[in-house]
Amino acid sequence: MKSNVYDCVIVGGGAAGLYCAANLSRLEFNGKKILVLEGGNRVGRKLALTGSGRCNLSNTEIDPSKYNTDDQVKLESCLARYGCTETSYYFENMLGVVLEQKGTLLYPSTLKSSTVVDALRFYLADNNIETESGVHVESVERTSSVYEIKTDSDKSYMAKNVVIATGGITYPVTGSTGDVVKILKSITDESFFVPFRPALTSLSSDISGIKGLAGIRCRGDVKIVDSQGTIKAQSEGEILFTKEGGISGICVMDVSDAVVRLIDDGEEDVKAVLNLTGKSAGEILQMIYIRRQMYAHRTCSDALSGMLLRNITDFVMKHMGLKSDKMTLRELDDRRLCELTNLLCAFPIPVKGYGAEDKAQVSSGGFKLSKLDDNMQVKGCHGLYIIGESVNVNGICGGYNLQWAWTSAALAAESISQDV
Ligand SMILES: Cc1cc2nc3c(=O)[nH]c(=O)nc-3n(C[C@H](O)[C@H](O)[C@H](O)COP(=O)(O)OP(=O)(O)OC[C@H]3O[C@@H](n4cnc5c(N)ncnc54)[C@H](O)[C@@H]3O)c2cc1C
Repeated sequence: MKSNVYDCVIVGGGAAGLYCAANLSRLEFNGKKILVLEGGNRVGRKLALTGSGRCNLSNTEIDPSKYNTDDQVKLESCLARYGCTETSYYFENMLGVVLEQKGTLLYPSTLKSSTVVDALRFYLADNNIETESGVHVESVERTSSVYEIKTDSDKSYMAKNVVIATGGITYPVTGSTGDVVKILKSITDESFFVPFRPALTSLSSDISGIKGLAGIRCRGDVKIVDSQGTIKAQSEGEILFTKEGGISGICVMDVSDAVVRLIDDGEEDVKAVLNLTGKSAGEILQMIYIRRQMYAHRTCSDALSGMLLRNITDFVMKHMGLKSDKMTLRELDDRRLCELTNLLCAFPIPVKGYGAEDKAQVSSGGFKLSKLDDNMQVKGCHGLYIIGESVNVNGICGGYNLQWAWTSAALAAESISQDV
């Protein structure tokens, strides 16, 4: 059985694990024995998928209130100590990645996520940081002075510091299967964790006619409403109708966390109330009213086609029991004009489910932030750190989740380097 004492072993070669290793080599830790263990056959597989292959790696206006966590105060302090500015500096000046800003979103200027994966890989190689792929870690156990990292083969490793960066549960094909819980079984119990659940995912509905909208995109907003009529979350942006019969798009994903919680807590009447126009009801009412004067003889589909996608008009009017391709706008009386307007601006879609782990971009849940110190070290377990999506911190779309990976990784690296 091979055994070796490392100064630091990082379990998981994803965004957080690679960034932690890179930061360690920059700090006084340089020259120490550092090892990254990756369960898959190569590092950074999920990172390579991010931002539709372009990697939206941060956001210049990160707002801590747009994250879910069990310790909001600590999260705010972490992001204040190491946020977008520090990340941008590190990427540009240490990793050599030229960044480009689109609105508030940061990308590599190549608009290729492989640029980011390569930059991290090359930096680790330049600094003689060992990386072993295809090594699946089963457990981390505490011995008197060091940690023992056991794998699914007969190989084990000894380390003074261990960083768990095994990610959450989403896109399990990339190797992230929520292993932090299993790996820390001998050291923790379930009180240390919030159960992992999908977040940033699509929503499904069985409402009649929704499959006919597959592939349609429209600007608007979405409100998640429970059975009491309370708005639990809202967001605006592009709504995408999916081929499975549901809705997705950034604004839908941003409110999906609230839906997952409601459904998992047994709420049976969850609605996504959609504004399908991107405009206020007053504006829409006026626009249709004017069209009724100008194009009274046209069918409703034709008369409204300049301001609304035909499929949307057809879907909403069908829901009202009307045939938009037969009825003229003249025939749409004031009462029905108001009803159409109200539905276009607040269409209630009953939500029956949500995209599972294989569809979601991020997971909520994980190791409680409140059980970590300010530098991601497990309280009472000197030298044991948890970073990235393994921690109970998840944010909205727009670079928030990778920023958390970079932030938590850099803070852990700083702490480890000061301790040795
Ligand atoms: C399709 C998609 C697009 C996304 N786009 C964006 C975006 O544009 N911007 C953004 O901010 N966020 C985005 N995200 C979210 C972002 O990718 C994650 O938040 C981030 O990758 C988390 O980093 P991590 O290192 O904590 O975990 P991961 O990237 O999941 O890495 C964990 C690593 O640990 C390894 N591992 C797991 N278990 C073991 C084990 N037992 N032993 C050894 N190794 C193990 C895994 O193989 C994996 O390589 C996206 C996610 C997806 C799925």
